[in-house]
Amino acid sequence: MSKTPKRILQKYFGYKSFKPGQKEIIDNILTGNNTAGILPTGGGKSVCFQIPAVCLSGITVVFSPLISLMKDQIDSLKAVGIDATFINSSLSRMEIENRIEKVRSNRYDLLYIAPERLESKKFLTILRTINISLVVVDEAHCISQWGHDFRPAYLLISDFLGKLDNDPIVAAFTATATEDVREDMSNILNIQESNIFITSFDRPNLNFKLIKGEDKRDFIKEYVTTNSKEAGIIYAATRKEVDNLYSFLHKEDFAVGKYHAGLNSTTRKKTQNDFLHDRIKIVVATNAFGMGIDKSNVRYVIHHNMPKDIESYYQEAGRAGRDGEPSECVLLFSPGDTRLPKYFIEQSDFSLERKKLAHKKLQKMINYSYTDSCLRNYILEYFGEDDLPNRCYNCSNCNDNQEIRDVTVQTQKILSCIYRMNEQYGVTKTAKVLSGSKSKAVLELDLDKLSTYGIMTKYTIKEIKNLIKFLVAEGYIYLTEGKYSVTKLSDKAYAVLEGKKRVEQIVRKETEKISEDNELFNILRKLRKEIAAEERVAPFVVFHDSALQDMITKLPSNKEEMLQVSGMGKIKFKKYGSRFLDRINQYCVDEDIDREKKKNQQKENKIINEDLKSHMKSYKLYQAGKELEEIAEIRNLALNTIRNHMIRAAKKGLEVDLDSFVPAQYRQLILKTIKEKSNNKLKPIKEALPEDISYFQIKAMICKKESIEGDIH
Ligand code: ADP
Repeated sequence: MSKTPKRILQKYFGYKSFKPGQKEIIDNILTGNNTAGILPTGGGKSVCFQIPAVCLSGITVVFSPLISLMKDQIDSLKAVGIDATFINSSLSRMEIENRIEKVRSNRYDLLYIAPERLESKKFLTILRTINISLVVVDEAHCISQWGHDFRPAYLLISDFLGKLDNDPIVAAFTATATEDVREDMSNILNIQESNIFITSFDRPNLNFKLIKGEDKRDFIKEYVTTNSKEAGIIYAATRKEVDNLYSFLHKEDFAVGKYHAGLNSTTRKKTQNDFLHDRIKIVVATNAFGMGIDKSNVRYVIHHNMPKDIESYYQEAGRAGRDGEPSECVLLFSPGDTRLPKYFIEQSDFSLERKKLAHKKLQKMINYSYTDSCLRNYILEYFGEDDLPNRCYNCSNCNDNQEIRDVTVQTQKILSCIYRMNEQYGVTKTAKVLSGSKSKAVLELDLDKLSTYGIMTKYTIKEIKNLIKFLVAEGYIYLTEGKYSVTKLSDKAYAVLEGKKRVEQIVRKETEKISEDNELFNILRKLRKEIAAEERVAPFVVFHDSALQDMITKLPSNKEEMLQVSGMGKIKFKKYGSRFLDRINQYCVDEDIDREKKKNQQKENKIINEDLKSHMKSYKLYQAGKELEEIAEIRNLALNTIRNHMIRAAKKGLEVDLDSFVPAQYRQLILKTIKEKSNNKLKPIKEALPEDISYFQIKAMICKKESIEGDIH
């Protein structure tokens, strides 16, 4: 059987189809072109060079910046049956020589090294004697001085390429898309514009949340309690803040670790390993905890403070959900937060021009915290994406995560209590009286004799104080100035007391769990951990969460069904398949589960869940024969939004007559232009076509082209 990319994807990696961009990139590399792939985190960059590595006859050398990750990467490759190795400073000289020997005798498809290796002349000489077909530069933005992770050793790569006799293909990958970085990368590595592939930066599985006006610690505590089974990262701006937050969570008994540049390398390594191996659930860290956190099942990233720009935010937040499962990115914001990053810029040794640019970028980040429009769109537009639907329905600005609560009665109680206390006391004492506190201060003053004493026993003192603060902000109560500020009623307050005015408060809905508890998922997670410990690898090397989730949905009962699970390649099945099958079978027996019924239920659930998604609502109307314009009117959405819904539906394999959206005389022309511009970038295609052809019509034809190709392969 010949090794076509598609077959390798299925047999080794156990995936049915390519993710966007993967096929084009792989084909382009295999054609022999120097290629750059710019894909978002979780976009599946590794497969883009691992598959060519298997196809090509010589070895693929991968330059990777992080030594600590190499072992996991190699473990993951071995687990799917691909021979690979790494050489770095963690190995003894004998081990290095041993591996070089094996490299020479063509035992591996891939060799991972850090660019610093190129500083050794001896190593360079060795590399020149082996048959290298492909040189991969991973995290290629490190080559650019404009990037945030510039690594001088990356510049040695281009010299190294010049010294090789057989002129191997070069492939560079990054998730950083800024123009100057991209330009540096392609100039230094000699990659032509037409061989740069950029996919959309959208990460549909990430839910973006903005939380304002709340006590950050209270929020974090509530959040990590609700999601105690999930892994997450909490970023804070300074080492001190990390230490404080860590102590707070540690005292509350959470399985937490910390990471910042002020800690010694043993502690840092331990935190990283404990996190990767699921021994701790939460890491509190500065942005030093970062590049290449290869853990695929990070379910949330909380930013305690805003980062310096959108690039940093998207990169850090993007460490959530690399496995494609639903995950959350939460930014906690209070207006004072802008001071620290401004200070950092001012204190930096940047040139005046660079400082100006940094301030400009920070302002864009600040604007993110104030925008009312779709948070996802805000980010994607920042990266230059256009023609987006109005709303994503998967961020806190699109989804209504607030509710309006009528607090008239509570307000009346508070106001009348202040009145009865002769407007002589502060916020805390008022709250204590209302909650029925038996503290000395209350009893000594005979405040327990008031008719309003203990009329809010259902609330904690803190809750009552928060409500009072809200009423202050809304102008029902004012606080006198001076050392002991006293609560007083304003004119507005009397209207409420007389029942002439209602008081409404906008509150955030309670934190919801990122994912539902599922007993079978916990059973499979446990088995995965057992196997990982036996084999001394990270749990995600055995299976990603997405594979376990797929097992739960499909409930496989035999080999054939198990091989249908996403992420279940032939080798993985051989190694682990039966152990997972046993647990699933056992679970079905123990719980007396009728598999067929359950599977059908799951399917129905999926449809219902899909139903909740906006594009499916539009699709239903489309199916019922409505025109796009009519759907837009019925749903009160922009026509462009409905058009995008149709594309989404088509991409999911639902039947949409894509042709009908494009006048017959243009269809061939558009298809031809798409082919010529080969990497599906919308702008250049649009510019090459008559003006009255819209972005939507081009997208429809791209979608059609992809679906045809999907059928052929
Ligand atoms: P990146 O390096 O771009 O962040 P990875 O290469 O780590 O992304 O891939 C992200 C996740 O997507 C991994 O869990 C990987 O196994 C999975 N993946 C890659 N290609 C596919 C595919 N074609 N279908 C399904 N999952 C895929």
